[in-house]
Amino acid sequence: MEFCDECGSMMKTENGSWICSCGFEKERDENEEGMVTTSGQEESEVVDVSDVEDQGRPTTTAQCPECDNDQAYWYMQQIRAADESETRFFVCTECDHKWREDDH
Ligand SMILES: [Zn+2]
Ligand SMILES: [Zn+2]
Repeated sequence: MEFCDECGSMMKTENGSWICSCGFEKERDENEEGMVTTSGQEESEVVDVSDVEDQGRPTTTAQCPECDNDQAYWYMQQIRAADESETRFFVCTECDHKWREDDH
């Protein structure tokens, strides 16, 4: 995309040149044109949060009900409404079993 040096309007391409409705013309820059096509795609890079849990979590001593391992990752999460207190969840470091602190 190119804007007119004279009046600031958006210019149109015509015969390899930029043409403005005010009559101003200039040579088209092929390199600049290539960059324009990549814009607007930044939104598509969605961050996948589902794997974040497995990185850099704190571990604590907690007994896994599945495999009796005594080390688990833990994190706080609000389950229902925002006015309810957060619940602590554990994820076993051995078998990836997930359970709530309340379940004990
Ligand atoms: Zn113009
Ligand atoms: Zn386990």
